[in-house]
Amino acid sequence: MVDVMTVDPMVGTDSEVSAVLAIGKRKRVARTSANVPLVQSATPWLAPSVLVAMRHEADLEIAGPVDEMALAGAERAQAVMHGWYPAQMRRVAVRADSVEVPVSAEGRGVGCFFSGGVDSFYSAIKHSDEITHLIFIHGFDIGLNNEDLADRTRTALRAAAADLGKPLIEVRTNLRQVHTGFGLDWEAHSHGSLLAHVAQVLGGQLSKIYLPASFPATAMVPYATHPDLDLHWSSTAVELVHDGVEASRPQKVAAFAHNDAAMRNLRVCWYNRENDYNCGKCEKCIRTMMNIRIAGASGRCSTLPAEIPWDLYARTYMTSGGIESAQENLDGMRELGYDDPQLEAALRGVLDRPRLTNELLHMRKIAAIAPAFAEFLWTQMTSVRERRMARATQ
Ligand SMILES: [Zn+2]
Repeated sequence: MVDVMTVDPMVGTDSEVSAVLAIGKRKRVARTSANVPLVQSATPWLAPSVLVAMRHEADLEIAGPVDEMALAGAERAQAVMHGWYPAQMRRVAVRADSVEVPVSAEGRGVGCFFSGGVDSFYSAIKHSDEITHLIFIHGFDIGLNNEDLADRTRTALRAAAADLGKPLIEVRTNLRQVHTGFGLDWEAHSHGSLLAHVAQVLGGQLSKIYLPASFPATAMVPYATHPDLDLHWSSTAVELVHDGVEASRPQKVAAFAHNDAAMRNLRVCWYNRENDYNCGKCEKCIRTMMNIRIAGASGRCSTLPAEIPWDLYARTYMTSGGIESAQENLDGMRELGYDDPQLEAALRGVLDRPRLTNELLHMRKIAAIAPAFAEFLWTQMTSVRERRMARATQ
């Protein structure tokens, strides 16, 4: 028998929306808030819910009317997801009252998702004439419990947005946690549908939103945000546009390397070692420093070190993404006519590295973090013991 997933939007405040997502006894409350009024309707819950339903092969019932164009788009999105992941994502029926919502773009603006990274700066600057608002989301790449990093990032992105002459819409949502709880993978399944949710709750302010592309067209793979998928999450009120597939990462950086707002605020680090804005030491940071060098802008970015740590790069364990980036940078040098024997040697060193050497670097990295991990375990055990003792003496 096919399970049923139910979605019940709850009455929220002006700037907060929430809904209960449930399949059988599994129940989670999804919450999104922002520094602007949000659309109180069932439509924004469609994209995130339909993926949960597909993952669990459960028919979806949404309480409350859903925009007719969004419902038709969700059917096409299901076809795309099922085509990519036939075993994980099954087609399901969606039951909701379809409603035609007459809305006009007049008086509303154009947004662009903005994490402060290479893809966001590229799209924000490329469409600067049209874009009226930038949108930052806390709860995606920065965890909801990391308020310290979120605060510093918000401060920096407010400055970046002000430098670009746009207001920053600040959103907070637990939907990534909710999706993970229902067994969805961020990169394979979730990401785009959660951006779509945020886009739809901002329908009061915005009629069109750019989603900066993660990959160029030449390297496109099935991914949760994708030019063949994102457009299907549009509604009558808000159009979603996947943007920037025409440029590789070195080309994107070259396009904004001489923009002061970008060079003062670029944020690329996933690693956030010691909660840094950019650690300056991980593969992603070093890759970006190389992008900047290829663009002829070495030393211009104030959020990354000016000098590339060559020795560290040569000793960095490369994931498949790191290897692809080294190749992309080498191609970028050629495309942009940049001659640099030192950089070329560093990139070739990574590309020609024997697999075993790479694996040994991985083992060394794991060994290096072992003492910190042991200390973490010890702290946890000690705090459990202390709590027990405290309870015993009460
Ligand atoms: Zn880093």
